[in-house]
Amino acid sequence: MRRCSILLGATLLAVLSFAGRTRPAAAPPPGLSPDERADALLAQMTLDEKLQLLHGALTDFNPGPLGTAGYIPGIARLGIPALHFADGSVGVGNQVGQATVLPSSIASAATWDLGLAYEYGWVIGHQLRAYGVNVNLGGNVNLANREPRCGRTFEMKGEDPLLAGRITAAHVRAIQDQGVIAGVKHFALNDQETGRFTADVRISERGARESDLLAFEIAIRESGVQSVMCSYNLVNGIWACEHPWLLNEVLKGEWGFRGFVMSDWYATHSSVKAALAGLDQEQPGGYVFGGQRDRSLKDAVLDGSLPESRLNDMARRVLRAMIAVGLLDRGDERPPLDLARSEAIAQRVAEEGAVLLVNQGLLPLDARSLRSIAVIGAHADAGVLTGGGSAQVIPTGGPALFFPPPCPPCWGDIVWAPSPPLRAIRALAPGADVRFDSGASIASAAALARRSDVAIVFASEWQSEGMDLPSLSLRGDQDALIHAVIDANPRTVVVLQSGGAQLMPWTSGAGPARAARPRRAGPVMPWAHGAAAVLAAWYPGQRGAEAIANILFGVVNPSGKLPLTIPMRIEDLPRPVIDAPPKPDSQEPFPVHYREEFLVGYKWFDARGIEPLFPFGFGLSYTTFEFSSMEARWLDETPGARRLAVSFDLWNTGPREGAEVAQIYLGLPPETGEPPKRLVGWAKVRLRPGERRRVTVEIGEREASHPFSFWSEPLKRWETPPGEYALFVGNSAGAGGLRLSTRLRVEPR
Ligand code: BGC
Repeated sequence: MRRCSILLGATLLAVLSFAGRTRPAAAPPPGLSPDERADALLAQMTLDEKLQLLHGALTDFNPGPLGTAGYIPGIARLGIPALHFADGSVGVGNQVGQATVLPSSIASAATWDLGLAYEYGWVIGHQLRAYGVNVNLGGNVNLANREPRCGRTFEMKGEDPLLAGRITAAHVRAIQDQGVIAGVKHFALNDQETGRFTADVRISERGARESDLLAFEIAIRESGVQSVMCSYNLVNGIWACEHPWLLNEVLKGEWGFRGFVMSDWYATHSSVKAALAGLDQEQPGGYVFGGQRDRSLKDAVLDGSLPESRLNDMARRVLRAMIAVGLLDRGDERPPLDLARSEAIAQRVAEEGAVLLVNQGLLPLDARSLRSIAVIGAHADAGVLTGGGSAQVIPTGGPALFFPPPCPPCWGDIVWAPSPPLRAIRALAPGADVRFDSGASIASAAALARRSDVAIVFASEWQSEGMDLPSLSLRGDQDALIHAVIDANPRTVVVLQSGGAQLMPWTSGAGPARAARPRRAGPVMPWAHGAAAVLAAWYPGQRGAEAIANILFGVVNPSGKLPLTIPMRIEDLPRPVIDAPPKPDSQEPFPVHYREEFLVGYKWFDARGIEPLFPFGFGLSYTTFEFSSMEARWLDETPGARRLAVSFDLWNTGPREGAEVAQIYLGLPPETGEPPKRLVGWAKVRLRPGERRRVTVEIGEREASHPFSFWSEPLKRWETPPGEYALFVGNSAGAGGLRLSTRLRVEPR
């Protein structure tokens, strides 16, 4: 497997001065659409030139000319530039060189801020352009928490299709606005890394349509994305990259996707069968389409087993995507890398995406009254953690630290970005004696905590493509370390750097939800008092330390909300044990039964009446908000085009400016078998102390999320059932978060 090459990124300048220019095509005749321009080009192309666009040109894991993960040479005589494909989910992938490490995508989702998500995408698009890369392999919209231990959760956008789909769409729009072909991946139902090349996901059509596929549908329909990457796994017995129902029928047919479908790396299993099913491009080489492992597409066209019209469609889709983002209309000049703007965005995302889970009055810290601060654990003297795999970014300036990963997966390195929390804390508490303890000796860390006014413990959990977490407990003796520090000093803050949900036996969970419902019996939470404050910082990116310190000391008022449920215990998950291949190296498909169907994340917890540790949508602020005066009215009741306006007052009743994420949940009539509620909209609202504002969120029946509908298996379509719907407004999906509710009548068609 490819290793992240730390040295590759040694100098930006060498890469930025790469020569090899392609001349732009002659100016297009005015007024032609991308389709017409693609057709005009296609008419001039030979069969071999068309075939050239249909598979990558790499062999084995050798990088492309720019160090990229994929490469297709251009066709100079027609002014068609080469395609350079690079990963870029949380910044430009390590294959290319050093880049700004953004907070993980899950942090972008935790901001619930579509404007900021656009800026996040801008960083990726802009930096890809600066490197001369014109196709982005990003947009991971697989649903987080379908499998909470999944090693790629940090690349995802949460467990809810609406949140995940919209955040991804914002990233995609920004990347394509920079003139780079963006993508969404991995289509579809690619939610675990265990046995990822052979997992055969079993799920009903309704289950898929209302969960993972819905996230894709929203991301694709709301962004105009030009590429979709099909995944390694099988879906109900058919490889995703040769799945006619997924690719032809749903993606291209129903959703009207006009771009091209590329395979994940080495995920092509057949040529004619895959091409007929809807696969347009094999990556990273032409092993299958070129004829080494199956009949070549060329032979198939020549003997008529692949209609030429389909081959033309494949090539046209690639050309059209290139034209749509402007690749044919500009040279390959590269913008100078704007690191200052990129890092400022990275810091804002980290600040807006960090979720304050617990605060028993300890935060914000008052630097003037603190004489001593203990900073403990997780290399907080050196940097912040980043996620691994193909999404790994090598930070500008080089890693602060890197270590080999636990083997397997033996992929890349565990990289720490050079943003040391110790330094950032010292900068904001210049009068305090700020000391660091690595946490290697629990006794010594506890001793430092005991003699300090406040203790800040950093905990971390590394994730990477190619592996799933063995459990949701923090690795090593981090839980014991946290317990010991809390025992030594109750004024303890825990800062967690993780890719997704972790169990937290040192906190008693989200207060408001507990007040509403008694805790389940059992030895779940032996700790009496727990941490005085807990901040989920995700992988906070290259300016992560500054963001964390700003929140701890109140320079920034936290406003992040959980994009995924944090369970109390592993037994509460739909599948407490991950389905794995019968033998680790087996090449045979093995079933992964999604018995929970569309009940992913909070929908599962709601439907089963299980209380999570922290519910979806939850996050504290240093100020307080009140919701009142809810009103729901139809703007248009035309069946098939209904539009609802939900209005309410939001009031900042506390002493500080802050932002609240007002979330709208809808419950369909119970006879539909839907979970008690689903997210149908939200608004992130910033208010000054004492300010009160009337907020209105509009929800349209025609939206890609099908907010009022369920998928009817017998009718094979989305159905909006007449009857009484429940409508909620609040600041989390937990029982304590639903502040206002009303009933809504939906009339029959
Ligand atoms: C990953 C993709 C990635 C590709 C190219 C694969 O292993 O699953 O997400 O884009 O490699 O690096």
